[in-house]
Amino acid sequence: MNVESIELFEQKRPVVISGPCSAETEEQLLATCTSIAKTGKVDILRAGIWKPRTRPNNFEGVGSIGLEWLREAKEKTGLPVSVEIANSKHVSEALKYDIDILWIGSRTTVNPFSVQEIADALEGTDAVVFVKNPIHADTELWIGALERLNRSGITKLGMIHRGFTQYGTSIYRNEPKWQLAIEMKRRFPKIPMLCDPSHICGNRELLQSVSQQALDMGFEGLMIESHVNPEVALSDKNQQVTPEMLHKILDRLIVRQLCMSDEELNLKLNHLRQQIDIIDDNLLRILGERMKIAESIGRIKKEKGITILQTSRWEEIIKKAKTNRILHGLSEKFMIRYLNAVHQESIDHQNEVMNNNKLVLT
Ligand code: PEP
Ligand code: MN
Repeated sequence: MNVESIELFEQKRPVVISGPCSAETEEQLLATCTSIAKTGKVDILRAGIWKPRTRPNNFEGVGSIGLEWLREAKEKTGLPVSVEIANSKHVSEALKYDIDILWIGSRTTVNPFSVQEIADALEGTDAVVFVKNPIHADTELWIGALERLNRSGITKLGMIHRGFTQYGTSIYRNEPKWQLAIEMKRRFPKIPMLCDPSHICGNRELLQSVSQQALDMGFEGLMIESHVNPEVALSDKNQQVTPEMLHKILDRLIVRQLCMSDEELNLKLNHLRQQIDIIDDNLLRILGERMKIAESIGRIKKEKGITILQTSRWEEIIKKAKTNRILHGLSEKFMIRYLNAVHQESIDHQNEVMNNNKLVLT
């Protein structure tokens, strides 16, 4: 991909984007933007003008009039402004109002038709475009959106990690699944990765720790929603923070060095990493051995004509692991994921032995 750097990201880490979830009134937008600008810690303003709502009959944004208010906010604060765009009409309106940064929201990234429409509308411009991750955990869609924009000549790109929809209960509104964002960072090291803790958390309480976690993983920026009076916000009221609270959150963040210059520290880390590599090799070897044993069991089951899944045996394994994992300092969440993965692989191996269903190794 032909990617150019964005000046602001060359100068500062983290780059902070803030502003209300939605522009609601001229007063609300200006009061929020001028207060957060006063903190001296915000680099770019944001506001939703057209709001993609999960259910109809919710506030769907003020529309283009909000772009006028945003222009005023830009004049008053001297800060660049950003908005979400979801179709070609939004693009032309935003360009008309000289919006500095456009972003594609999660609900749009999932739809290649919409992304292509936006990419076509942006062709020939030098727009700066950030792409939020799709609502579900599919990095291909995220990559696809970046590629479509890039094919239209957009080279100033950014990624925004805002978490993923998860079935079941969670402390987060959207599960971070950090490993997916890290993988995107690895694949596109030249494209800055921002974290949107507001949409990950869905509440104010977790914002500080999620923001810190993102910085510790080397994210280049943060997008945090703020509102002069979150209690009366027309969208996302539980996760928006007052300008004062935003200031506190940003003040408390610790920005650690990206790479260590200290030779000794590097040596120490390398030594520890080597140990991890050896352990990882051993873990894979042992898992391979475990699967061979599962295959032997499969052969016996085949001979005796019994089913692959023996529920009581599996429950016994889970019970044992539940006590053992505490001994080894492993979380319950990890243990369950690990056991499920091992169980599935065992079943696949036994399936190969019993039914000649070839295991897919690639
Ligand atoms: C937003 O930033 O206000 C928004 C709608 O976010 P997302 O696309 O992440 O849901
Ligand atoms: Mn929002």
